[in-house]
Amino acid sequence: MQYFTDYSTNSYIIKNNSALNDRVSARYPVRLSTYYANLITRTDDAIWKQCMPDDRELDDDFQSADPLNENSLSPIPGLIHRYPDRVVLLVSNRCPVYCRFCMRKRLVGSGDAPMSDNALRTALEYIAAHPEIHDVILSGGDPLMLDDESLSGILSGIRAISHVTIIRIGTRVPVTLPSRITPDLCSLLKKFHPLYINTHFNHPDELTAESAAACALLADAGIPLGNQTVLLKGVNDSVETMRRLMTGLLAHRVKPYYLHQMDLVQGTAHFRTSVRAGLEIMQGLRGHISGLAVPHYVIDLPGGKGKVAVLPDNVEIRGNTLHLQTYTGERVTYQDIINPQE
Ligand SMILES: *Cc1c(COP(=O)(O)O)cnc(C)c1O
Ligand code: SF4
Repeated sequence: MQYFTDYSTNSYIIKNNSALNDRVSARYPVRLSTYYANLITRTDDAIWKQCMPDDRELDDDFQSADPLNENSLSPIPGLIHRYPDRVVLLVSNRCPVYCRFCMRKRLVGSGDAPMSDNALRTALEYIAAHPEIHDVILSGGDPLMLDDESLSGILSGIRAISHVTIIRIGTRVPVTLPSRITPDLCSLLKKFHPLYINTHFNHPDELTAESAAACALLADAGIPLGNQTVLLKGVNDSVETMRRLMTGLLAHRVKPYYLHQMDLVQGTAHFRTSVRAGLEIMQGLRGHISGLAVPHYVIDLPGGKGKVAVLPDNVEIRGNTLHLQTYTGERVTYQDIINPQE
């Protein structure tokens, strides 16, 4: 356990005693990796806010712990089947850092046991019995908190099912515990191609030499890297921060994939911005920075209705005439001309 800091003795944390709220940590576990704790440069900076307990986590009992109905969309414990052709497998409920805004706050850190062998076998049988499933997403918790052997067992089990084309792993390890990305881990993962990794950077201060090295190892193993960012009030809700984050990710060979509107999850309300604020940020990205660096801004609808991409309102269609707004704010009309021969 040399990787982890006991948060009660961490010097950053004892500076602010109110953050050491036992009532908060009794309900929502607190954990930090030494690496991530060392990225904190002052109380209340962007790293601090993401990982330090806050009294406000206990203030919002009006929100649901599971607004996306993941529990009821689980035909098998630990398997979420919401879209026809892809499933999520919750293979671990541990993470190097328990993010205070986590959408699975109800699950993470609750006991340290990964999915049991029995639950895993049942989940694999379910996937094998559903030929329409082409894409299996390992999530949690953090799948890379499993040891190499357990991970290899799970990946082999999935690869033995011929109708599964791609495997994805959702992990924050490159951000919060980059030393977990070892050459051994990469040689293991590359046996299971096509395998994609989506990581989770939220702030440019997380783009360090260590995280760059972790991403480079994964990319060199032929693993396409994507990133999911959560829009967080007081952490990354400005155009300037998002531009630095998204372009910095490209320099790490990571393609920004989603920018998530904060889910309506109990205990996280103090992090939520308005959707309008998110759209203004998107307007500040498209055209201003490389198109490769622009993620899709998505709202994951309550009730498990799925993710919907939302776009700045820059098109109005009147008959065959489109009124468009460019990235500089200029208004332009465009004729939508179709071949009269057809
Ligand atoms: C987000 C999500 C997926 C994957 O969605 P993509 O848009 O394909 O990335 C699959 N299942 C569930 C339950 C999800 O929440
Ligand atoms: S790493 Fe992901 S799953 Fe773990 S606490 Fe953070 S957001 Fe939640």
